[in-house]
Amino acid sequence: MRNVIAMTSGSLGIDFALTENTDVQAIAVFSSPPKILMTFGLADAMCRLSSVLVTAGMFVSFGDTDPTWSPKLQNTVITVEDQIRDEPFRWHPEYTPWMNDGERQVIFAYLLVSMSRFIVLHEIGHIGYAHSHGPSGTSPRLAALIDGQATNEADRRAAIISQAKEIAADGFAFNTHLCLQAHELGVADLDPMRKLLTEKLIGTPRLRLRWTLLSAYFVFQLLDRRNWNLETATLATHPPAPFRLKCLYAAALELKHPDLPESEIIEEVSGARTFGSAVFDVGLKRFPDLFWIDQVADEAFDAIFMEIYAELHNWTVWGGKKP
Ligand SMILES: [Zn+2]
Repeated sequence: MRNVIAMTSGSLGIDFALTENTDVQAIAVFSSPPKILMTFGLADAMCRLSSVLVTAGMFVSFGDTDPTWSPKLQNTVITVEDQIRDEPFRWHPEYTPWMNDGERQVIFAYLLVSMSRFIVLHEIGHIGYAHSHGPSGTSPRLAALIDGQATNEADRRAAIISQAKEIAADGFAFNTHLCLQAHELGVADLDPMRKLLTEKLIGTPRLRLRWTLLSAYFVFQLLDRRNWNLETATLATHPPAPFRLKCLYAAALELKHPDLPESEIIEEVSGARTFGSAVFDVGLKRFPDLFWIDQVADEAFDAIFMEIYAELHNWTVWGGKKP
């Protein structure tokens, strides 16, 4: 992970550490040098989520698998975090019955790497865009809700600015994740793992876009605590997870890629939520939540989106906006 940070954060000299905290979160610390802290809880949850998906036999071109879909209502009504909560992940046949299948090891590792990268690149975005500055100095991802029903305009504006920083950091994570994949696969001598991934998963720019959108789908499903509503969403430091994914899809539609025609980008983004749901819901034995993203598709959320969109240019300048 330190290599990824060094490659993608320029001269910022960002440090990285795992903490023992069991909460599911990552934090950018605006110290000197800046740091990214990922909790054990988040790393463990990503290991378990990757393992559950691979154990269910998803990604059928990797190894010997035959997935079946047997959804259970009790899985569907709880958060993903609660569903996969168990003893901490261990590399043991009891948890990873496929551990002697080399190809499934590869897809497990790459799934885990991709989700972890998305999280870490998001935090690099906060640091690189100097999100410590400005009227909302709240620490990212502390999930602090500003309590109270009746609010004043200043609280609401602070929330919009904080949420604009989150959307800016997500956009950085998305774009940098794509660049990183292309960079890694562009070398002449690929190691066996990358060779396999190139042959079966991410050999073209279009497939790399598909995989990046899928990884983001998993990350936001994991992060959605499903404890928000419109009222809390307008005052929270972070937008609801499906709202963030919807914003990411909007950003993906604006992607400019020399080897990806606009029509292919539109096709990939249009199918991303259905594809994500298919892989995710079969893998986790859930009924599809057809309204997961539609929950944020009403006028009130559109109005929030427009306010965030108007703020974004203030929070996407590398090194921070000049006063
Ligand atoms: Zn953040």
